[in-house]
Amino acid sequence: MKIKISIIIPCFNEEESIPLFYQEMLNVMQKMNQDFELLFINDGSKDKTLEILKKYSKEDKRIRFISFSRNFGKEAAILAGLQHSTGDYITLMDADLQDPPEKLIEMYELLQKENLDIVGLKANNHKNYGFIRRLLTKCYYKIIGSLSIIPMEPNERDYRLMTRQVVDAVLSLTEYNRYSKGLFNFVGFDTKWITYDAPNRIAGTTKWNFKKLFTYAIDGIVGFSTKPLVLSSLVGILFCFIAFLFILIIILKTLIWGDPVGGWPSLACIIIFVSGVQLFFLGIIGEYLSKIYLETKQRPIYIIKETESHTKQ
Ligand code: UDP
Ligand code: MG
Repeated sequence: MKIKISIIIPCFNEEESIPLFYQEMLNVMQKMNQDFELLFINDGSKDKTLEILKKYSKEDKRIRFISFSRNFGKEAAILAGLQHSTGDYITLMDADLQDPPEKLIEMYELLQKENLDIVGLKANNHKNYGFIRRLLTKCYYKIIGSLSIIPMEPNERDYRLMTRQVVDAVLSLTEYNRYSKGLFNFVGFDTKWITYDAPNRIAGTTKWNFKKLFTYAIDGIVGFSTKPLVLSSLVGILFCFIAFLFILIIILKTLIWGDPVGGWPSLACIIIFVSGVQLFFLGIIGEYLSKIYLETKQRPIYIIKETESHTKQ
């Protein structure tokens, strides 16, 4: 009996990439000779992405699509894909061919041979990103690595082949602030990684700007570690200790040399410094508070406008 593999593809303004992606996928599907489901998630694209998906889904019954009412972000697209997929095995791929479809053959073989639950891809390189982005990414993963108990690595792609059991486990995590990299690692299961050289984007441009990446980075830290909150207490204790030392020094100085008047500039600096530290930690607490606020509102993570079976004429 053939097994069914669901491929989830988040798409945001990918009109140029989708036809090329589909061509590659046709080759892979033919080689693998299994049942397939290509589930495209149109994340509020402003170009012809939706039109292309509608046309393809009429011609090829293996193609399904979910179209959001606006751009909800890649995380929301991944969630919608996982929730609506029907295959025995599920994988995520970018539309820009940076996650090469032909790798799926190798991943599937390894998963079957070693009876694994997840086979993921790790990129050897990130040549296609600029120096600053690479440097910031490296620093970020160092920080999150030391803060979080869940291992997270810079080179892990979202491209991973998973069993239905793994996907069900990921879906049982119902949080609003979703950080998939962390969620996939949180559920555990037997995992193996294949390394490869990530190619450049086939067409179009990256959909991530600095602001989006920064928000994503904060989501990762706040979502998977509470250590920054502990840090504020530790810094508080350290400052109390320093203050105590200063008091001792001042008392001793007064007893030995008499009343010391003056030193207000240093006092002003200390006040500004300490207020800065306090505001910084207030900000950290605010980050956690805002996440709790968003969680309690229980807003939907995405809103569907159309699917292949419910299209607007
Ligand atoms: N994407 C999305 N919604 C967004 C941003 C990106 O669905 O708000 C999709 C995009 O269409 C692509 C994948 O996520 O298929 C990865 O995006 P991109 O290639 O721009 O990211 P990069 O490879 O530069 O990290
Ligand atoms: Mg890309």
